Amino acid sequence: MSNDLIIKSLQGDYEVTFHENLTELDLASQLQKTDYFLLVDKKVWELHLEQMEGITQFPVYIVEASEDKKSLKGVNDFSEWLITVGASKSSTILAVGGGVIQDIATFTSHIFKRGIKWEFIPTTLLSQSDSCIGAKCGINVMPYKNQIGVMHSPSKVWIVKEFLQTLDDETFESGFGEILKLSLTPPHDFYFEFRDELNKIGISRDSALKWIHKSLSAKKAIIEKDEYETDLRRILNYGHSFGHALEAVSDNNVNHGFGVLFGIDIINFLAFQWGQLGEERFREIRTTIASTFRTDFLPQNLQATKLIDALKTDKKISSGRIHFAVLNNEMNLEIVPRNINEELLILVDRYLTDESIFTSS
Ligand code: NAD
Repeated sequence: MSNDLIIKSLQGDYEVTFHENLTELDLASQLQKTDYFLLVDKKVWELHLEQMEGITQFPVYIVEASEDKKSLKGVNDFSEWLITVGASKSSTILAVGGGVIQDIATFTSHIFKRGIKWEFIPTTLLSQSDSCIGAKCGINVMPYKNQIGVMHSPSKVWIVKEFLQTLDDETFESGFGEILKLSLTPPHDFYFEFRDELNKIGISRDSALKWIHKSLSAKKAIIEKDEYETDLRRILNYGHSFGHALEAVSDNNVNHGFGVLFGIDIINFLAFQWGQLGEERFREIRTTIASTFRTDFLPQNLQATKLIDALKTDKKISSGRIHFAVLNNEMNLEIVPRNINEELLILVDRYLTDESIFTSS
């Protein structure tokens, strides 16, 4: 397929290529070196073993994609295995899976023998449309998300559409959280087209590749200007402060993409209350979310105090203030510092009690 992307990175540019299926990709002939070590999501391994036949000559470490594996223990277990099977400084990790597998691969490749290469075949909508580029990685210090991490870009990314066919509906749907965020990221080239399609036909596996390409192009424009998040890239945290807080208070039972949808709606509500975002745009985005996605994923009796406590572990806090990425009237995302105080607590409580479109199942 055409439309391949080259991502410019301070750690070395890398290519993202797009493919219908693994057979077309002919991965065996693409893997140029001999010392690949595979890190593969257990479900993906079971569901796609036949298609992956060409790469099974390499040593394979299979892991369940759960948030507790995305931890120092998970990284240590994988590193022990790499040593046992003879990986060296010149080896390459080939990760096949979603965001959890990606974060384990990124962290491990950054520190193993003080740094080795890694390549990636993302297999979820979220990892194909967002996380596979940008070099970022976060490891959990349970139950808090992404508390420690590194920046280590992949050397190559292959997007293979057929993986999306085996994703369960919930995981597929949740991938749209990051796509919605990227559609709202200036210059929001595809927000209106995306919104109109969601409102007309809802989410669809058929058009996923189109949104993946548009999302990656939007993210590419940001990370190439500010790969290390010194300034501009902070806008990509839109929807993430409350999203991560919700993931933490749910003991990571809420999927990341759904966390982002919740995070977008609540920060839009706050921006509306603060006079930064007009009511019309706030309600329009809310309507799209409410009419397209499931909204029944909040933990029972979610309290504002718990959410605020979890928010206090956010990485964007400095000198007691949290830096929210906020959508404004001009549809720009701006970074707004706010005190975590009683006033914020009251607004979050009002949101949860009277305003939220989200419920407990
Ligand atoms: P995931 O990796 O947690 O996988 C979700 C589920 O889908 C798992 O059960 C997995 O086994 C299964 N799965 C994966 N591919 C499949 C396939 N093709 N067919 C059937 N099942 C499949 O999900 P995710 O949404 O990709 O990732 C979420 C994680 O990514 C979170 O931990 C989040 O913090 C992280 N993340 C990282 C970044 C980054 O830039 N590093 C960005 C966003 C999110």
